[in-house]
Amino acid sequence: MTEPPYPAFNTLAIHAGAQPDPATGARATPIYQTSSYVFDDVEHAASLFALEAFGNVYTRITNPTQAVLEERVAALEDGTAALATASGHAAQSIVFHTLLEPGDHFLAGRQLYGGSVNQFNHAFKKFDWHVIWADATKPESFEAALNDKVKAIFIESLANPGGVVVDIEAIAKIAKKAGVPLIVDNTLATPYLCRPKEHGANIIVHSLTKFLGGQGNSLGGIIVDCGTFDWLASGKYPTLSEPCPSYNGIRMAETFGDFSFSIACRMLGLRDLGPCISPFNAFLILNGIETLPLRMQRHCDNALSVAEWLDSHDKVDWVSYAGLKGNAYNKLAGKYLPRGAGSVFTFGLKGGYDSGVALVSNVNLFSHLANIGDTRSLIIHPASTTHSQLTSDERKAAGAGDDVVRLSIGIEDKDDIIADLEQALEQA
Ligand SMILES: *Cc1c(COP(=O)(O)O)cnc(C)c1O
Repeated sequence: MTEPPYPAFNTLAIHAGAQPDPATGARATPIYQTSSYVFDDVEHAASLFALEAFGNVYTRITNPTQAVLEERVAALEDGTAALATASGHAAQSIVFHTLLEPGDHFLAGRQLYGGSVNQFNHAFKKFDWHVIWADATKPESFEAALNDKVKAIFIESLANPGGVVVDIEAIAKIAKKAGVPLIVDNTLATPYLCRPKEHGANIIVHSLTKFLGGQGNSLGGIIVDCGTFDWLASGKYPTLSEPCPSYNGIRMAETFGDFSFSIACRMLGLRDLGPCISPFNAFLILNGIETLPLRMQRHCDNALSVAEWLDSHDKVDWVSYAGLKGNAYNKLAGKYLPRGAGSVFTFGLKGGYDSGVALVSNVNLFSHLANIGDTRSLIIHPASTTHSQLTSDERKAAGAGDDVVRLSIGIEDKDDIIADLEQALEQA
């Protein structure tokens, strides 16, 4: 196992996948703003369509700007390949479309981004894919929830919004024993803080919208193939192991080996469902990634200072930040997130729901909005916003009860961040 700091991480964040543009010498990766690509000749065209040669046909499937982004994130996560998508949710949809057949089940830790809870409970049901909820803080709950229709396990490494650090290795062991892939949403940690593959993940997904892009300007998602699951041996995943009727009867896992999951996601999921990333967004996110190591460290350092300050404030009931000594997840954070526990965390106001509303109404530097992972400090009261579509029980289970405020600490000066919270808390 490699522990952070990962070798060459800063260099890869800037260079992986990129070369000076062969046509113009442009040093920054150009935005290839084109929908389609001219074939060399008829044979070339035929070989591209038969998947006998790799090359660009149409931007719904591949694009050169997107390709640099994919190679870069694959390198940062130490995966074999990656597929970028229009959003984090698009990435999740394509992962499950590749893994599941109608009637299949999957397990997910209940401590998830609210949008993922909705996607799994409602949208996926229409495909006849069924989520079974487990408790990400109790790895044994996954083992107890297994049945023979379960084809995957899904968790977040650092769970949104409550700052829960999940014991990835314990859950990976259960997935391995059950013969199903472990999918880890690594959005809040990013590969700078944690590489789930080192702990047994088989597939990693990200919302690039958050820390990887990092500046709150573009939606994007990505699927990283760790190349560690034997789809052929398993036989449970016909999309990967059976002859493919829409590609000359090739078997994805046989033809593409340790990056076949990413190819199947692209050539079947993305091609047919369609949520491709725009070249412009891929460009912006790629530029964001160049400064990921610098930003993440500053995010973490600021978050720890703010969490410590809040922890001693008399209007604050509790602070859930894994970086705090005494936090229930501090020990797991030491193992999985040794360089910092991220910058998203929650705290509880003694004044409950009304105080939460008052606080978000009185901040100045903080932006009251539904996002995380921006250079700017962000605040939200989940019960009245992101988690308002969940039932009260689901909200509590997701760490988003009425008194809860979620912060995403930015990279401004920490004294300014604290001063803004101080004046707003006075009014809450
Ligand atoms: C935002 C987010 C998503 C969804 O990503 P989008 O880019 O908004 O579709 C999924 N998981 C986590 C942890 C997120 O924070």
